[in-house]
Amino acid sequence: MDDVYINGINPDQISADQISKDVQNAGVVGAGGAGFPTHVKLSAKAELVIVNAAECEPLLKTDQQLAARHPELLVKGLTLAMKATGAQKGIIALKAKYKDAIAALEPYITNTNNLEIAIMPDIYPAGDEVITIWLTTGRRVPPGGIPLNIGVVVNNVQTLINVAKAVAGTPVTTRTLTVTGAVKVPKTVTVPIGTSLRDVLELAGGIDQDLTYLSGGPMMGTLITDLSTPVTKTTGGLIGLPKDHPLIKRKSMTVETVLRIAKTVCEQCSFCTELCPRHIIGHELSPHRLIRAVNYKNMGDPLLVTSALTCSECGVCEAYACPVGISPLRVNIALKAELRAKGIKYQGELGKVDPMAKHRLIPSSRLMDRLRLRPWYKEAPLSLDVYQPEEVTLKLQQHIGAPAVPIIKVGDIVQVGQLVGEIPTGALGAKVHASIDGTVIQMTPQTITIRKGGAAK
Ligand code: SF4
Ligand code: SF4
Repeated sequence: MDDVYINGINPDQISADQISKDVQNAGVVGAGGAGFPTHVKLSAKAELVIVNAAECEPLLKTDQQLAARHPELLVKGLTLAMKATGAQKGIIALKAKYKDAIAALEPYITNTNNLEIAIMPDIYPAGDEVITIWLTTGRRVPPGGIPLNIGVVVNNVQTLINVAKAVAGTPVTTRTLTVTGAVKVPKTVTVPIGTSLRDVLELAGGIDQDLTYLSGGPMMGTLITDLSTPVTKTTGGLIGLPKDHPLIKRKSMTVETVLRIAKTVCEQCSFCTELCPRHIIGHELSPHRLIRAVNYKNMGDPLLVTSALTCSECGVCEAYACPVGISPLRVNIALKAELRAKGIKYQGELGKVDPMAKHRLIPSSRLMDRLRLRPWYKEAPLSLDVYQPEEVTLKLQQHIGAPAVPIIKVGDIVQVGQLVGEIPTGALGAKVHASIDGTVIQMTPQTITIRKGGAAK
């Protein structure tokens, strides 16, 4: 059993305000990718809290194993999030194939605690929170909106485990992530935040010069160009694939090439729109129309163009739908950057659900085959050890909002869990804590480096 009663504190007896403060003090951010500061989410009022345990990116096996290993912490985190937001109900949303997690969680679901387990179909992108909510409740988040607009707060597994630990007095100093693909020893490891990706790869058999590495999952992950990049609170996974793998080639394309291909070969078949998960639940987003608008510089319909802002970047249009290798996803990312720079927001309404919606979602196994990932679909067992690197580099911005402000200086001796970066006054942000015992050896405007023992560089 997990022990969350650290320092004699019983999390059940803490007020809603105190939960949010503890979560803020612990530096908890959304571990599922975006890194939104969790204390802000928990300060809002909601009817329902959903644990997003879908983990729908092919190959990643972190959340399903954490849920199986730490069910009490996860349920405690969910209960605390419900208390903080005033939610009357909590749903743990996962897939039937996560049998160990379901078996571990079931004993915590009672007739009186307003918790339930919701089994989602094994489709991609079940883990897009807008789709998670729709699949588990039938509710639909409006385009450009957030789950709170319909009374829902969604958090992923690792975030809620961190919430439970936060209330028990433990800040976020580690990250659990799957290292897999063509690496020698696929595994799921826990490392101090700030550990270099190079060190993480050593835990999985070492760096292979014939591979290219992705940070995150195969669908939404990004190419790693520098293995000294540190693990952050949001690093989702580390995947090695052969350099000539189609996924690596596609992700390596420049935006100019993407736009040129779109212009040359788009046949306006609209498969990208028919399979776009946001489109099928009634959002205006229609990637084939955006491609047409960009190709013919027909930006006349402002609502159409601004609908790019509602793209979740799931990659279905690029990796699965388009028969001729176009990436509406990358076109959308470019459009989003332009629109955001101009401060433009999407103002459209929610439309009707596609009557064929549930048949248009992509089965995970078919996606795996389409991505040619089957040879690398392997177990990546959770290691219980926490790796101890010689050095960590903490990013001051691992979250949405303003970077943390350092409150230490080069030469200071710090201990694991010590606050080293504070939220700037009045800003949205998250605190940063030392993840190993050691000496601050270097600081830049973006980072703090700590070395075990250590001496300033
Ligand atoms: S699926 Fe490809 S070819 Fe068809 S409309 Fe979309 S981008 Fe064009
Ligand atoms: S990436 Fe493509 S499929 Fe996914 S939401 Fe955006 S437009 Fe739709």
